[in-house]
Amino acid sequence: MALITKAIKGTQDVLPSAVYENQFIERAMTDIAGKFGYGEIRTPVFEHTELFQRGVGGTTDVVQKEMYTFEDKGGRSITLRPEGTAGAMRAFLEHGLFNEALPQKVCYVISCYRYEKPQAGRLREFHQFGAECFGTPSPAADAEIIALANAIFDFLDIKNLRLEINSIGCPSCRAGYHRALREYFEEKRDELCNTCLERLEKNPMRILDCKSPVCSKIAADAPVVIDYLCADCAEHFESVKKFLDAMCIEYTINPRIVRGLDYYTRTVFEFVSDEIGAQGTVCGGGRYDGLAEELGGQHTPSLGFALGLERLLLLMHAQNTPVPQPERCELYIAPVGESASLEAAKTVNDLRLSGISAQTDVYGRSLKAQMKFADKLNAVYTVVLGDSELQSGEVSVKRMDDGETTKLSLENFVEEFLELSISYSTDSLTDLINSENPDFSKFIGGLL
Ligand code: ATP
Ligand code: MG
Repeated sequence: MALITKAIKGTQDVLPSAVYENQFIERAMTDIAGKFGYGEIRTPVFEHTELFQRGVGGTTDVVQKEMYTFEDKGGRSITLRPEGTAGAMRAFLEHGLFNEALPQKVCYVISCYRYEKPQAGRLREFHQFGAECFGTPSPAADAEIIALANAIFDFLDIKNLRLEINSIGCPSCRAGYHRALREYFEEKRDELCNTCLERLEKNPMRILDCKSPVCSKIAADAPVVIDYLCADCAEHFESVKKFLDAMCIEYTINPRIVRGLDYYTRTVFEFVSDEIGAQGTVCGGGRYDGLAEELGGQHTPSLGFALGLERLLLLMHAQNTPVPQPERCELYIAPVGESASLEAAKTVNDLRLSGISAQTDVYGRSLKAQMKFADKLNAVYTVVLGDSELQSGEVSVKRMDDGETTKLSLENFVEEFLELSISYSTDSLTDLINSENPDFSKFIGGLL
């Protein structure tokens, strides 16, 4: 029978040798978000298709071309989430969180599904860290959520990221802008792709982020929305900038940012890198004051962002960003003979129950092969356990870094080993804390 050894195009496995990086950044992000008052929310990976049609918008690329939609056995139209905001907002409305003190701030780490052309930084299954702040129109909240994304990049020591912001106004100022856009694109309608011709009628702003080279060339000279803001939206944007200035967060204004999803209003922003190729937007977000009503809820001004974990990792690798290494095997016990194997099994089990990472032979290797294996595991200490050790009740623990040996009793092995390894690892952790960047050290310090 033929082997099934290929994952689906556009998906990727993360093997144990790499997964610790994801765990580190996910934990750092949710911890930092916690300090900003964001609690983690978990919502289903699939939702009713209509949620995304209404929430993301029927004229977007995501809904028109990229969704994984299928009928379940009960005849419902189901879609694998292409993003996290619509599901989080659905949960906010469903559970009446609008009755709680506002704003309600939530964050999440999720997988997302979009049928796109796979390439570096663009997958069909990808992952996002997202943060959403429901129920506040205040520009202080816009600046605060940007500060959260900024704090995450700062903590991870990511360099050369550009924060670009823009305001795309509200439905009332957008009416004038839509007129100007229609006028502009009408003259060039012969050159537009079919999807954009449809957008010209329904939502001309979507033409601005069409990926077709012809349409994007035409869009480059189109009028920009920031010139059409109503007084309220202009004032809101000014205020967001003042709050960013007050927090010393640097930004540039990019009047061409419109974002790919229909629900955005007023502030939109992106964190962009030039170091990871064409897919340089690591994080994107903005305000979506109309989304709750779009889903049938009451008016709930809100905002959020999503940060692509694969793109962030590409950038971290490009910049050699330090990440704490996974826990090393503290002790490898190499038994020789059957009685020693039983004693080793018991001892490593006791060690693990006491929180120590320990291993022994579960393969049937010779002593020599076991020592090679312990070397591969990069074990901090090793012990050989044979008949003579069992008889004397004493073993010799060898520190592999420098060959130093210490005699420990078998009877009190766990306590004595704990003492020995703690005194050594405290030294090395202190070194790490002193040597790494200060934010990073604070985090490791917090874990101790
Ligand atoms: P792009 O313009 O690159 O298609 P987008 O506007 O569709 O991005 P959002 O919907 O705002 O992206 O998603 C937020 C973030 O999620 C992006 O900035 C990116 O980091 C990540 N992301 C989006 N689509 C993908 C994908 N197909 N593969 C990997 N990461 C993605
Ligand atoms: Mg996209």
